[in-house]
Amino acid sequence: MAQDCIFCKIVAGEIPSKQVYRDDLVTAFHDINPVAPVHVLIVPNEHILSVAAVKPEHEPLLGHMFTVARQIAEELGVAESGFRLVVNTGSDGGQDVYHLHMHLLGGKRLGRLG
Ligand code: AMP
Ligand code: ZN
Repeated sequence: MAQDCIFCKIVAGEIPSKQVYRDDLVTAFHDINPVAPVHVLIVPNEHILSVAAVKPEHEPLLGHMFTVARQIAEELGVAESGFRLVVNTGSDGGQDVYHLHMHLLGGKRLGRLG
């Protein structure tokens, strides 16, 4: 766990969150400031700064994040209507929290990127 990392604190249960999924590798919870009717964050339990810090040994974890995303999309009823997975990386990528996370967005027609 990294000091002063908000997502590490959520994973550790030190900060409350509206959790939707949890296992040994990942935790998923509703975004506190949703930009779509469904807006869930899927985060590794391990502190990884960003995609810029991923290593080959993270591949099982990274693949698992997609499987969990599909499962949550089904549970929240957006698997058929469609959804978007976003991983902001670094300052130009719009990353605000430096603990790797995947946004799962759905429940409305999302605009084009850029
Ligand atoms: P990013 O800009 O990709 O780093 O996204 C960070 C996301 O974390 C934003 O969508 C925030 O609304 C969300 N966020 C920040 N703090 C919390 C929190 N305590 N609980 C849930 N979501 C949060
Ligand atoms: Zn962290």
